[in-house]
Amino acid sequence: MKTFQFTRPADAATAIATAAKARTAQQDAEVRFIAGGTTLVDLMKLNVETPAQVVDINRLPLDKIETLPAGGLKIGATVRNSDLANDAMVKRDYSVLSQAILAGASAQLRNMATTAGNLLQRTRCVYFRDPAMPCNKRVPGSGCPAITGHNRMLAVLGTSEHCIATNPSDMCVAMAALEAIVHMQGPQGARAIPFADFHLLPGETPHRETVLEPGDLITHVELPPRSSSKQHYLKLRDRASYEFALASAAIVLEIADGKVGWVRIALGGVGTKPWRSPEAEAALIGQSATSDNFRKAAEAALKNARPQSENKFKIELAKRCLIHAIQTAANS
Ligand SMILES: Cc1cc2nc3c(=O)[nH]c(=O)nc-3n(C[C@H](O)[C@H](O)[C@H](O)COP(=O)(O)OP(=O)(O)OC[C@H]3O[C@@H](n4cnc5c(N)ncnc54)[C@H](O)[C@@H]3O)c2cc1C
Ligand code: SF4
Repeated sequence: MKTFQFTRPADAATAIATAAKARTAQQDAEVRFIAGGTTLVDLMKLNVETPAQVVDINRLPLDKIETLPAGGLKIGATVRNSDLANDAMVKRDYSVLSQAILAGASAQLRNMATTAGNLLQRTRCVYFRDPAMPCNKRVPGSGCPAITGHNRMLAVLGTSEHCIATNPSDMCVAMAALEAIVHMQGPQGARAIPFADFHLLPGETPHRETVLEPGDLITHVELPPRSSSKQHYLKLRDRASYEFALASAAIVLEIADGKVGWVRIALGGVGTKPWRSPEAEAALIGQSATSDNFRKAAEAALKNARPQSENKFKIELAKRCLIHAIQTAANS
């Protein structure tokens, strides 16, 4: 591990000013905020991330879950995943989020991991995590060995010829279906970004994973009111716990008179970012809640999937995952 400076500011302005002084691009960052450290410290030990300065944000007042005056929830950036999953309001009105968080990592990790840290966790692509190998995400222009190599776990949606890495987060899939809004504060002031626009597709710049600019600190995530909806998160993986998704689905659904009146659908484990599917939603809205229509929605969601040598199975797996998740939500 490369040596680094460590600071622990007491207020957000100091944290932002410190981070804004140097490059904080996704790749090759000179300054990094640290929250739970469960991603960052791992990557620093592997020399995948080598920041010269680490800014601890754990003393900032960003650890509250609060209801908003017009309904909805404000979740502070440093709220721990365990606290969020077990919060009474989250369990009641945003059960899909609670289920998604509890499907991820282990209890010990969830006790440390934070809301913003989870949004910014990086891919588990084996080449990305091995500095001895080329990787366009880690070293732009060096190549993507995954395309002809080990790609069983990698993405089938949103890929490019430069990167096919999967976004590994469970929590983000639920956030996408709940239409969360990410709030950040940076050198130029505060910004709010709809969740669907927060993560970027790899395209020609896979090292840029989000819209965050140098110095931007995520302060909180906002969830719109969703109290009357049926919700479900389903995660399929190689073993029952402590494993990333091969495919997952988050469903937020309203049914009236046997027909789908409103629905939001997101997929995990198959996309280069948390994968909201407007195609699947459009195929379901106004339709009867039947297995045939759920299958049509799943076909629409995976219509543009592009498999690699080892991960073609994910396409049918994701479809079945989605069908089962919609069915379970509808029957809840
Ligand atoms: C063995 C293992 C298994 C796991 N399994 C799963 C799983 O099944 N599903 C799943 O979803 N996740 C899984 N995870 C990932 C885990 O959820 C993440 O490591 C965790 O959510 C990251 O949160 P953190 O607070 O520890 O982030 P950190 O490691 O502290 O930070 C991560 C990144 O976020 C940045 N950052 C943190 N806070 C802010 C902020 N407020 N503003 C701007 N930047 C910020 C940091 O600079 C860093 O780049 C697993 C992790 C491990 C180690
Ligand atoms: S898939 Fe992306 S992260 Fe993996 S080797 Fe290729 S460029 Fe790197």
